[in-house]
Amino acid sequence: MPTPDVEYICSDCGAKNDIKPSEPIRCKDCGHRIMYKKQDADESTSESTDPAASEGSEG
Ligand SMILES: [Zn+2]
Repeated sequence: MPTPDVEYICSDCGAKNDIKPSEPIRCKDCGHRIMYKKQDADESTSESTDPAASEGSEG
């Protein structure tokens, strides 16, 4: 694969899009233009306990 498609995550709906470097960045689900590259690195990195954010997650 000379031009591997890059995984992009839509900033609007959060859908995953496999977009090639030559193709324009656009969500195929909702058509949003703002997308960010999927970061597969630092996946298992444990989050450090921050004393400031001691509030439990509601939900
Ligand atoms: Zn979208």
